[in-house]
Amino acid sequence: MLFGRDKKNPISIADKKVDKWTYSTCGYCSTGCSIEIGTNKEGKPVASRGVGGADVNRGKLCVKGIFEHEIFEAEGRGEKPLIRNSMHEGYEMEEWDPVLDKMAAEIKRIQTTYGRDSFAIVSTGQLLTEEFYTLGKLTRGVIGTNNYDGNTTLCMASAVSGYKRSFGSDGPPGCYEDFDHTDCLMAWGSNLPEQHPIIYWRMKEAQEKRDFPLIVVDPRVTMLAQNADIHLAVTPGTDVVLQNAMMHVILSEGLEDREYIEANTNGYEQLEKEVQKYDPASASKICGIDEDTIRMVARLYAKSNRAMSIWTMGINQSTHGSDGVVGINNLNLITGNIGKPGGTSLSITGQCNAMGTREWSSCSGLPGYRALEKAEDREEIAKFWGIDPEFFPKQRGMAQTDIFPAIETGEIKGLWLIATNPMTSMPNTARMRKTLEKLEFLVVQDSYADVETTEYAHVFLPAATWAEKEGVFTNTERRVNITRQVKQPHADCRSDLQIFNDVAKRFEQSKKIKFPEKPAQVFEEMKTLSKGRLCDISGMSHDLIEDKRGIQWPYTEKQKKKGERPVSGGNRLYTEPGTFRFADGMAKLIPLPFIDNNEVPDEHYPFWMNSGRLVEHFHTRTKTGKVGNNNKFSPVPFMEINPDAAHEMGIQHSTYVRVVSRRGDAVVLAMLTHRVPKNMVFIPFHYFDCVNRLTLGLLDPYSRQPAFKQCSVRIEVTDQEEAARLSKESRDY
Ligand code: SF4
Repeated sequence: MLFGRDKKNPISIADKKVDKWTYSTCGYCSTGCSIEIGTNKEGKPVASRGVGGADVNRGKLCVKGIFEHEIFEAEGRGEKPLIRNSMHEGYEMEEWDPVLDKMAAEIKRIQTTYGRDSFAIVSTGQLLTEEFYTLGKLTRGVIGTNNYDGNTTLCMASAVSGYKRSFGSDGPPGCYEDFDHTDCLMAWGSNLPEQHPIIYWRMKEAQEKRDFPLIVVDPRVTMLAQNADIHLAVTPGTDVVLQNAMMHVILSEGLEDREYIEANTNGYEQLEKEVQKYDPASASKICGIDEDTIRMVARLYAKSNRAMSIWTMGINQSTHGSDGVVGINNLNLITGNIGKPGGTSLSITGQCNAMGTREWSSCSGLPGYRALEKAEDREEIAKFWGIDPEFFPKQRGMAQTDIFPAIETGEIKGLWLIATNPMTSMPNTARMRKTLEKLEFLVVQDSYADVETTEYAHVFLPAATWAEKEGVFTNTERRVNITRQVKQPHADCRSDLQIFNDVAKRFEQSKKIKFPEKPAQVFEEMKTLSKGRLCDISGMSHDLIEDKRGIQWPYTEKQKKKGERPVSGGNRLYTEPGTFRFADGMAKLIPLPFIDNNEVPDEHYPFWMNSGRLVEHFHTRTKTGKVGNNNKFSPVPFMEINPDAAHEMGIQHSTYVRVVSRRGDAVVLAMLTHRVPKNMVFIPFHYFDCVNRLTLGLLDPYSRQPAFKQCSVRIEVTDQEEAARLSKESRDY
């Protein structure tokens, strides 16, 4: 007789007939999970699994990683290069050479006619680091346009800017292991369980062992807020006021770490003078958190032996994004919480290789965190590449969010988009449509031909995706990990590295510069250039990285020679006094006056509109929209609305409503939930022709990142049949 468990039918896992497992790194988010892709005897990817010995994910994957092997042959992949003479004609398939010839000729025509900077290049956070480095070499050293950026401006630019302003360099100081040591965790606008599920698991496991308090600052009751000890439902866009008020309490009650401040910082007096203006009683009227709670949280943070702050888009995507990051750094500097286990600032990055582009793509400067503004940096790179330093501009050109308005004004005439989809990702869709139509020449290079932006391109270049090629990514905690090639590129696709090399050959200037063909050769160049830099990778190699399941930078040649093992976790920046990246080694405490320039709800548009991510989707659904097990959970756009607000307007759960802003309107399904307060709605950003028809897109003055998360809207009850028709049309577009 069988009892209990033995009585149940055993779970059977379908045999996928895997013949070989290949090591790789997940190509979605910046958590950086080690993954193995299983291929069958015919070489077809049929399964994905987490890697047990990897420090980041320890065998686990989230719902995106588990089905990642399905993206290779997903619907909509590019097959061959496409070309047409105008946007009003149909595409024709072509061979690579004539298409690349045409592309090079158009770039030269535009630059000769209108000037070098009239052709712009916008890339992504999705390429391999070797590809980013090569694209930077092509753009800065050969084509020579200064209007070059990545779509990471939509995501992490405020973090980059904030780190540079506070510490003198980009580079997150902390790591995931800090969760194991902290006594207090504050999460600012970060919904880990949905955005970075495996980092959430690391945090939760640490919290279950040591039970540290979790404080979540978020206007919405996110999944993380539901698990918080203290949830601060801050008024959108006012984090800086809360930070200043917390510092007011800390300094007025003498809770600061005086010794740390004196040994490591400049600017204390100016900061103190500014935060004196933010007494909790006055601040509470702006940021919406009651004064006693502000005092209680400030004391809890400052009195903890080790306190850390993490943040994501709730801070970055704001008109005060860069200030919000500096505010977090200020808070950690005055409490002595930088560079020690469990005491840190840690931005939770978005895309799988947003860090790689920051380090090596030359978007905002030159490789290895070098600056165009510094003559010695320009000379060093020019000498290494074999070109005249005068070829480089002496300061950074436009960010992505300034490139599009410059197309409107006619300053930019041609554009090359690489693995980015602004028709869905940029604010104000209607304006973006008109902008792209103005271009004399648009190239879209992507793994998928059906991205919405291809509609406006003159040339489409089909790129290999993720593990159809080889190279490294850097994750949120500075860990360099490798993606090995699992299969040959789909159809006639080429790796982005090969495409950049093929384009380079068509320019006279490239004869002076070497463009290695193999990713490992490119990595060797990067290693040489990294020596002595903050992001030193000179002790690494592709094989060692795979062997260790990822290595955090810095890992120097000297450390390798001395036989030091690459740390498998726990590598931090600024652990020694006076090692910040300003000339005097000191960090800067920066006063942050608050200027309220948000679009706020009023009688005509009475709701705040907030946007964000869902666990099953990634960015504009270019990939996850094609994977059945991801797409079926959230196939259509929806809007969270508070049940009390919905009932007052006669809105039923799961019926269509029309959301209207000063920019446009969108039809979505209403989901009644108490996750949003009565004066707020939330719409996921993944869907085409939806939330970005409404968003304002005001820019942060330092980072140029748009304020996707704050604008005002009104809700209208709409005819259900008409709305269903409109919604379907919009999805079929
Ligand atoms: Fe991939 Fe991020 Fe999920 Fe890890 S958490 S499996 S890196 S999407």
